[in-house]
Amino acid sequence: MEKLRARRLAVTPQRLAVLAVLQDLPDHPTAEKIYQEVRRQIPAISFNTVYKTLEVFCQKGLVTKVNPLHEMARYDKTTEEHAHLICRVCHRIIDLDWQPLALNSFTPEMLHGFLPEQQRLTVWGLCRDCQERQTETEG
Ligand SMILES: [Zn+2]
Ligand SMILES: [Zn+2]
Repeated sequence: MEKLRARRLAVTPQRLAVLAVLQDLPDHPTAEKIYQEVRRQIPAISFNTVYKTLEVFCQKGLVTKVNPLHEMARYDKTTEEHAHLICRVCHRIIDLDWQPLALNSFTPEMLHGFLPEQQRLTVWGLCRDCQERQTETEG
């Protein structure tokens, strides 16, 4: 509730429910997944309301959007810069505990006049489940 108030957002049951679901879901859920969960608490809520709520949260910096797959946006409750491990098969996104380089550690030669503002490391590969599935089909 303080999170909403701190950002001058009206506290509504819908917003509280969306926020609670975001905190509970361990992975970086899609709007659809969040909608399915919120509906358990507020059966009358529409997908559109959930989607718009998420957009407002993004604008206010309560959540960030992760969309490295250029398909459906995934929502991330961790708004600090952090790295991701992404499974190329099941598209699971896992937070990676990794300290990024300081942006001022790039030399002018490396930057070609570019002004760096943000960096995001993404490591692609196979999650444990998908690796196991692969060995099963092979064996
Ligand atoms: Zn996977
Ligand atoms: Zn994340």
